[in-house]
Amino acid sequence: MFSPITNEQLIEIANEFGSPVYIYDTAKITEQYNKLTEAFKQHPTKFYYACKALTNVNILKHLRSLGALLDCVSINEVKLGLLAGYTPEQILFTPNCVDFNEIVDATQLGVRINLDNISILEQFGNRFGGSYPVCIRINPHIVAGGNYKISTGHIDSKFGISIHQLRHIERVVKTTGLHVQGLHMHTGSEIKDIEVFLQGLEVMFDIAMRFPGIDFIDLGSGFKVAYKEDEKDTDVNKLGAKVAAAVAQFEAENERKLEIWFEPGKYLVSECGYFVVKANVIKQTTATVFVGVNSGFNHLIRPMFYEAYHRITNISNPAGAQRIYTVVGNICETDTFAWDRVLNEVREGDYLVFHNAGAYGFEMSSNFNSRLKPAEVMIKDGKHTLIRRADVFEDLLKNQII
Ligand SMILES: *Cc1c(COP(=O)(O)O)cnc(C)c1O
Repeated sequence: MFSPITNEQLIEIANEFGSPVYIYDTAKITEQYNKLTEAFKQHPTKFYYACKALTNVNILKHLRSLGALLDCVSINEVKLGLLAGYTPEQILFTPNCVDFNEIVDATQLGVRINLDNISILEQFGNRFGGSYPVCIRINPHIVAGGNYKISTGHIDSKFGISIHQLRHIERVVKTTGLHVQGLHMHTGSEIKDIEVFLQGLEVMFDIAMRFPGIDFIDLGSGFKVAYKEDEKDTDVNKLGAKVAAAVAQFEAENERKLEIWFEPGKYLVSECGYFVVKANVIKQTTATVFVGVNSGFNHLIRPMFYEAYHRITNISNPAGAQRIYTVVGNICETDTFAWDRVLNEVREGDYLVFHNAGAYGFEMSSNFNSRLKPAEVMIKDGKHTLIRRADVFEDLLKNQII
């Protein structure tokens, strides 16, 4: 049975490795992976972990040990995946607006390739013909996801080839003899309404009718996890049952078989992550009480970039009186993590933890203000291990020519 990591463990790790520090509990990743595979067991379904959420090689290895496959968006992610022990067939490369040479490099590494614009499709077809199978990323023009910034299927999106360009896709495929193995869509992140997936699936079925040779439909991601106390995860059990029923019907009507693929990022690694920071300063102004912490958007940018909500708790004073705070960073730029947050009384020196910090946390960090990136620690089988050292001053100068 899964038991969440305790405040005492988090404090112990922060004391040992210093703060700020990212801490990942692999037991939570395992639980999330098992929930998904269980929910979709009625139909052959594959899960490609969208590793841009968190690419530490130790995390990639853990996911591989569970049986997850890997979705990569850059050639470097592909290389990290290979380093973590994934075989080329277990890796799907889904690039967007990359140089054609990067795609050629991917063919040399032998990984699966997902193409998302006509120009590249044509170049690929001219170069490889039917000798290297591909998947085609379709933009079904379904508006989905938490907000416009994280939605990728809408009309203004740069992702995928529009369904309205289907005739053009067919022309390129026919002329070049491309071997199309699968169809892909990814309409966005944090989709609450499972009907959106099913709507997308219907669109993909329509297209699949025009590609009798395909083996799979990849529905991308959009699996939501709860960030706020009163939010709910995507109901994967209900979705699994509905997808299985829809595919079974399609298979029966058309006498063919189709695997279903997904590419969850956040769902697998968001909740495993804890970002522990220290309260540097309590600052009373005329308007609010600020808690200034020893971090900023250089380490966790989601609140500022996406207006994302991360639950924050004071693990050093969990029984303290509840008070209202505005939590900010130490960067010379407005970097508000949270307005009007009720926390147990925060004293200077207390550790605060940002929950759900596994996905797009460390991964989007930078050295802005010449600050150092934090360490990453992984908890596995009850033991914690340092999986990335914090930056040191020399790292800031590493590539500077002096
Ligand atoms: C980012 C991305 C995902 C993962 O999205 P999450 O919201 O983290 O689950 C999946 N597929 C593709 C192509 C992506 O770019």
